[in-house]
Amino acid sequence: MPSKMLQFVRVGAATPEKRGAGDRRRDFREIYDGFDPAQAAAQAGRCSQCGVPFCQVHCPVHNNIPDWLKLTAEGRLEEAYELSAATNNFPEICGRICPQDRLCEGNCVIEQAGHGTVTIGSIERYITETAWERGWVRPARPRRRWGQSVGIVGGGPAGLAAAEELRRRGYEVRVYDRHDRIGGLLIYGIPNFKLEKSVVERRVGLLADAGIELTTDFALGRDASLADLRARHDAVLLATGVYRARDVACPGIGLSNIVPALDYLIASNRHGLGDDVPAFADGRLDAAGKTVAVIGGGDTAMDCVRTAVRQGARAVHCLYRRDRANMPGSRREVQHAEEEGVEFHWLAAPEAFLDDRAGRVAAVRATRMHLGVADATGRQTPRPLEGAHFTLDADIVIKALGFDPEDVPTLSGAPELAVTRWGTIRIDHRTMMTSLDGVFAAGDIVRGASLVVWAIRDGRDAAAGIDRHLATRRQARLQPAAAE
Ligand SMILES: Cc1cc2nc3c(=O)[nH]c(=O)nc-3n(C[C@H](O)[C@H](O)[C@H](O)COP(=O)(O)OP(=O)(O)OC[C@H]3O[C@@H](n4cnc5c(N)ncnc54)[C@H](O)[C@@H]3O)c2cc1C
Ligand code: SF4
Repeated sequence: MPSKMLQFVRVGAATPEKRGAGDRRRDFREIYDGFDPAQAAAQAGRCSQCGVPFCQVHCPVHNNIPDWLKLTAEGRLEEAYELSAATNNFPEICGRICPQDRLCEGNCVIEQAGHGTVTIGSIERYITETAWERGWVRPARPRRRWGQSVGIVGGGPAGLAAAEELRRRGYEVRVYDRHDRIGGLLIYGIPNFKLEKSVVERRVGLLADAGIELTTDFALGRDASLADLRARHDAVLLATGVYRARDVACPGIGLSNIVPALDYLIASNRHGLGDDVPAFADGRLDAAGKTVAVIGGGDTAMDCVRTAVRQGARAVHCLYRRDRANMPGSRREVQHAEEEGVEFHWLAAPEAFLDDRAGRVAAVRATRMHLGVADATGRQTPRPLEGAHFTLDADIVIKALGFDPEDVPTLSGAPELAVTRWGTIRIDHRTMMTSLDGVFAAGDIVRGASLVVWAIRDGRDAAAGIDRHLATRRQARLQPAAAE
């Protein structure tokens, strides 16, 4: 049989059909369709089956990409799915929202050679969507039960990946979350046009079917202390993410209609899910008919500008203090935002918010910046350009400057829990255990604001660490009995 691989010399790189900007501005549906079987096989067949697969090296969960691409090219989709699911708990989610240009696809050898990357993310999504359609995705079933329980605080990707892995290994698992829905930023942060909520809800349903207990409206610090959870479970995992929004220090920052990004996105996501959202209904968190200014250049800022477009904003501006090449968000997201009509002001930072004499923001006065010498991290520091100012009208300003960790030791009533100087939880990276015996941590609360795929990786590593810890405890319980 002739090889179906190495077709990159004949077949060009292609993504699935992307909806036109005019169409997608009108709704919150995902912007890409899926591949059909012929397209997926043809695109998978472009892989050059490298001896050293840099795509796999740069994928945080080390997906076995070349092998599942080969299986897809050969039409062996069930095997491709088994292989893909072996390293990633939520492959169809990563296929949609990983910044592939910085991870697997950016390091694809044929991309580096100028032929255009294998469109790995879209193929990963295709494999798992096919698996869902054909009933190959099944709840984790423990082969044996150890009678030990794990409490997981945080129902985001880190907590959920750990929950699934621990259930599979035979533990009773309970996930606690302070929100009324499970999913973390997958459900309340990331908008529908990147990741439809039904995709997340389907996964949460699968975890419930596996026997994982999901407890919502339960906040560590309010409904239980860390000591309570340690008494209730044999091990505890903290996967609480980072939620303290960074602020802008400018005159006028206290004006109404200057809102934190997550408040704005949560309101929009809740509205999309059919909830009653008073601050959306009365217009405070709805951009319809307004001029919007978003401050920031990361993924959160991109989600805000694109949400505002879809809500029917009159105009949407994005101010970022560095240039396009130095922005932290995915290049692909900026391109989507530009296509959808967002106006970017690179090298621009707010210096004051001006009011409408009724306590509401009416405009942003901004300074033009230039990039100065590099700091200790190697990044050039933005500096204001003397005398270069401009003013933008704004009916609503959205602050999207990133997130820091909350004070977990204090809020959980465990001041002895060690944290780093950034406030993230300190762990032993070999075991994922914190400074407290039997308490583990994973995801953004350990790394700082990061990516879904890194949260999944951490959740899997934490599950392995917890499994080793609980196995040691079982051994210790057996030993005295054996000695008798
Ligand atoms: C707007 C936005 C867009 C993003 N877009 C992308 C993207 O496109 N691609 C990508 O890879 N990454 C993206 N990210 C980053 C990604 O969402 C996070 O890195 C990832 O969700 C971290 O997972 P986690 O499980 O550590 O935390 P989270 O997803 O934040 O989940 C933590 C959970 O813990 C719960 N919790 C917190 N404190 C308590 C408490 N005291 N008691 C009980 N529960 C608690 C929270 O309610 C939450 O459900 C985005 C982030 C944001 C904010
Ligand atoms: S998980 Fe993310 S980085 Fe890894 S192969 Fe999939 S899309 Fe690429």
